[in-house]
Amino acid sequence: MIIDFHTHIFPPEVVENRERFAARDEVFSRVYGNPKARMVTVEGHLEAMAQDGVDAAVVCGFPWADPGLSEMANAYVLESQKRFPGRVHAFYTPPLSAGEGALGAAADALKKGMKGIGEVAFYRAEMVEEDWAHVGELARIARQFSVPLLLHVNEPVGHEYPGKVGIRLRDIWRFTVDFPDQPLVLAHWGGGLFFYELMKSVRTSAGKLYYDTAASPFLYDPSVYRIAAEILGPDRVLFGSDYPLIRPSRYFREIDGAGLSPEARAGLLGENARKLLAL
Ligand SMILES: [Zn+2]
Repeated sequence: MIIDFHTHIFPPEVVENRERFAARDEVFSRVYGNPKARMVTVEGHLEAMAQDGVDAAVVCGFPWADPGLSEMANAYVLESQKRFPGRVHAFYTPPLSAGEGALGAAADALKKGMKGIGEVAFYRAEMVEEDWAHVGELARIARQFSVPLLLHVNEPVGHEYPGKVGIRLRDIWRFTVDFPDQPLVLAHWGGGLFFYELMKSVRTSAGKLYYDTAASPFLYDPSVYRIAAEILGPDRVLFGSDYPLIRPSRYFREIDGAGLSPEARAGLLGENARKLLAL
C-alpha cells in the first residue's frame, strides 16, 4: 500500500475564486496568489492518486489567517474523509492566528475523526517563542488523541521561495526534548535536521521524530533518500508529495533510482505511514 503523507486540497469555491480569497487572506495570497500555484479539490486529488498508483493520502488544508476561512476549509477536508474513507486521511490544519479558539477547534476536529494535526505552518515570518508555545499546545491536544503532528519546516539556507521563513533547527530539537513521546512529522526533510541525528544528544530524544519528503525534487539531490535512510534507518521517513505542488510519479522515479534496501523502500512508501496513522 502506497501512502502519500503530505498533500493539500481546497474547497471548489476557493479553487474557482483564487483572487477573491487572496484579497481576503494575506497568507493565502503569499503562497497561492500566483495563478501558477496549483490547487485541487478532493476529486482532482483522487484522480491523480489513481493515475500515479497512490492508495491513500494524508490530506491537509491551509493555515488561513482568517479563522472563519480555516473552519470552512477544514470542514471540507473532514467531509472528504467521510466521502472517501480509507483513501483520504484528514488532518486538521490550524489557522495562523493562535489563541484559545484555535485550540478548541483542533480538539473538536479530532473528536470528529480527523487523524492528525497539520500541516502546521507559520508562513508569515520567522517562528518565534510564541509560535512554539502554540505548537506545544497543539502537541498536548495531539497527545490526548494519540495522533501525529505535521509541521512545516524549511531549510535555514539556500534559495528563497514563497512560504520560506526563518526557522531555527535548535527549536525543533528543544521540542523533541519537551515532547519525547509525541510523534512529530517534519515536512520537507525537516530542513535538514536529520543530518544532526548523527549527534548523540540529538538522537537521544528523536525516537518519535519523522521526516517527510515533500518538495524533495525541487530542493534536494536524489541521493538524499539513501543518505537519510543510512542516518535514520528504515522507520522514520515518510513519502509525502505536497501534491498538487509535485506529482507522486516524479518522486517514484527518484526513489526507484535511490538504491534503497527493500525494507527502507517499503517503510518510506507506506509502511511507516500505516503504523503512524494506526491503520
Ligand atoms: Zn510545507
